[in-house]
Formats: sequence, C-alpha cells, structure tokens
Amino acid sequence: MQSARKPITHRLICDNVALPSRDTLIIEPATIDIAGSVIAAVYRNEATAPPLAPHVICERLHSVLVTPSYVDAHTHLALTCLRGLGRDGAADANLVETFFYKIEQHMTPDDIRAFVRVGGLEAMMSGTGLVWDHYYFPEAIADGLRDIGLAGVVAPTVQDRGGPGVAALDANIDATIALATSSTSENDGVFSALGLHATDTVSPELLQRCIPLTEKYNLPVHCHVAQSLDEVERVHRLDGCSPGTQLIRSGILDSAPHSLLVHGIFLTDDELEALGQRKVTLALCPHSKQIFAYLPDLKRWMTHDVQWVVGTDCAASNDAWSVPRELRFIAGMRAMSATWSAAHQNYLSKGGPALAKAAWKERGRLRNALAPLGSDTYVLDKGWRVPGAMHPAFRAGEVSEGSLASLAVWDTTHPSFWPNENALRTLVWGRTDGALKRMMINGSWSTSEDYVGQAIAQSDMWKEFSTEASERLAMLMKRAS
Ligand SMILES: [Zn+2]
Repeated sequence: MQSARKPITHRLICDNVALPSRDTLIIEPATIDIAGSVIAAVYRNEATAPPLAPHVICERLHSVLVTPSYVDAHTHLALTCLRGLGRDGAADANLVETFFYKIEQHMTPDDIRAFVRVGGLEAMMSGTGLVWDHYYFPEAIADGLRDIGLAGVVAPTVQDRGGPGVAALDANIDATIALATSSTSENDGVFSALGLHATDTVSPELLQRCIPLTEKYNLPVHCHVAQSLDEVERVHRLDGCSPGTQLIRSGILDSAPHSLLVHGIFLTDDELEALGQRKVTLALCPHSKQIFAYLPDLKRWMTHDVQWVVGTDCAASNDAWSVPRELRFIAGMRAMSATWSAAHQNYLSKGGPALAKAAWKERGRLRNALAPLGSDTYVLDKGWRVPGAMHPAFRAGEVSEGSLASLAVWDTTHPSFWPNENALRTLVWGRTDGALKRMMINGSWSTSEDYVGQAIAQSDMWKEFSTEASERLAMLMKRAS
C-alpha cells in the first residue's frame, strides 16, 4: 500500500520524532507529511519539504515526542464485559471453557458492538492505535471499531469441533472474505485475518478448507495455539500429535502470507524450530498468562529465532488493555526466574555468602540469556514495528513513508518523563499514560481535546457508550444466569 502520490492532507513539523534507523530508533526533528490515512513522506530537514497547497493543515509540535501508536497483537475487546467477574477458582481449570463459553453463547451482535466500543476506548487511553481482534460476530466488531475510530484487524472466530461459534462457521468464513475484499479498509483501517480459534477446536479438514482462502485473499492466520492442557490432550487424542505439529503438518503456515500464533506455552523445541523457519510470529500476553496458565519459555522462542510480539488478550484476565503495561513486564523478565533457580533455592536452604554469590552469578547468567530485553528499542518494537509488519495489506508501528498515519504524541514535560534524559527508556519502564497528549489514527486526531485519557473519560462519547454497555451487560448476565 503506497499512497505517496495521493495529495497531502496534513503536515506535522515536530521537534522530536522516534524514527527508525536500521535496527534501532533515534529521536530527531522531522516533518511528517500525511496523505489520507498513510504517511506520505518523512523529511529529516524541514527545509527540504515541498511547499504545501493552501488548504493543507500544518501543525508545529513542540515539547513533545512523536512515536508510532501501539499495535496490540491480540485482543478480544468484547470480553471487556467480563472484567472482574471470573472467580479465582475458575482459573484452576480451563477458564475459557468453564466461564467464558457459558456467557458468550448468550451474547448478541449489539452486545459485542457495545463492549468493543468501551474496551477500544480504554485501549486508546494508553496509546493503542490498532488491535488484532479475534472474536465472534465480526461485523459488530468492525462497526464498534469504526464507531470509536480505532483501527483493527478483525479475525472472525472460526471453529468446527468445539466452542460457541460452531454454528456460525460458514457465516464467519464469509465475513472474513467480505472484510478482506472491502474497498473501505484503507480509509477506515479495518482489515481481516483468518481467525482459527485453536488447534483443538479446528479440525484438520477445516484447516484444509481454509488453505486456499489464505492464498486467494492473502489472509494472515490469527490462531491460539498450545495454550492449555485440555488443548494438548484433545489434539493428541483426535489428531495423534501435539498442537504445534497439527498446524505445521496442515500446510496452512506455508500458504498464509503470515501467521500470528498466540500463547504457545506447550510448543516443543522441535515445533519452535519449525516455526522459526516459517513466516510466523508468536504472541506473548504476559498478564493474561499469569491468570490463565503460566508464562511460556521466552528464552526458547528466542533461541529458535521465532519472531514474537506482545498482546493483552482479554480484560477478563488481566484487567487492562494496555500494551505499555505488557512491555514493562517483558522488560523485567530478564532476571525473574533467578528466584526459582536451583542456586537461589540452595542459598535459601543453607545460607552463607558463598551460596549467595552462586545465586547472584546465576542471576547474571539468566540476564545474559535474555540480553536483548535490555534494549529499549527491542522491547518497544514488540508493540510497534514487529506487530505493525504482520499484515500484507498495510504497515504500521513506524514513523516512515508508507506506514499508517497512526501516531502517539507524548508530553515530555509531564512528571512521568522528568528529567526526560531518555524518553524511550521511560516509555518502556515508566507509567506514561497521563502524558499521552494526542493520538492520531489513520490520519485523524482521536480527540479534539489534549490529554487523550482525560479527553476520552470526560467525553460525551464515553458517557453514551459506557451507559449502553452497562445496560447490555446487566441484561446479558440475566440471560446467562
Ligand atoms: Zn486470546
């Protein structure tokens, strides 16, 4: 998608922009020309930018840092309605099946649209400009996103051997194709992916049916894989192999232009090695995994050179649609496992400086094993450039020519940035939501007032949409109970 020839609609002259520079990011002044929904050009020197037609909006952005907006690689925005409702004991078994399925079967398309709006507005408050959403009633998801001006890749949930969407299989495949062939995608920022639910709820026959669709419509795959013990046991029983192997053997990972596989806790070394040789990105949802199961072994993903990103997954599990919160968590993973290492446990049992020294040495070894997480650019790219490059129809997560014009503008005079010596590090480790001054999605500013969080929370839109969502949730819980 290259819109450089389209007329410029907007120019931003900025003091500080996080610009790509090979594998890293640099902060420099830049002039950003926008044509409709796409960045048409980025000039490092304002003087080299061509003169503008009189009607073009030109803004100067001082004392702020302009970055890409975040790409949340895995959401079920409609499940915002279940926040706080799951009992802790439900997570001892399979939370999706014992809790979600029971309520999901009573949801209507209007419920989904209402819940997507409130979840999406919350996501925007921390700088998310695009979500990869996976759920039932895709038209309602797309309408909900359009209502609030959030971009998204909608993956209508496809399943044929379990789950609430079995009866809607054909309808959801039709909806996937309709979204993929929509002529409005570039303007409203709503794209589609093939939303295979999970390897235990999708049969090998359905995978074969979907392979030509990925080729004909250039559809990326978005699928949960190896996320639960139930899935591992069922796929072994039904297909005689483990979840990752089922997908690899089917050939769909070779036919699709890209595959986003989510969670991957039970992927083996052999499977990870095979995935590392394919156009596959794994999604890590740290906070969600702390509730649903436990964290995958990130070191093994990296050892096998599998590309990976972060996602939030589901407000019912982690209580926030916040990509920066997930990035902060992965940055802190380097030394996390030292606590449970044999060396530290040995010290706790026996004490003494020699064993303490051995435990500290083990901490150093673990930190080195995950050394890339020490790079702010590496971490931020898990929420910017890497998920922004997963769809063949667009590029996002980067301030560069041809990318979607989806930007976050941070007030670097805000207390959370002070003394503003290293803004990228602050974005990784700090709590910067309050400094999000403006956000542009697909070439349009998201709020007319400054400070996005406050502007959304105080808007008439939030009042109207949250009121409707509350009323719908009350009725849904009545039906489900
Ligand atoms: Zn999920």
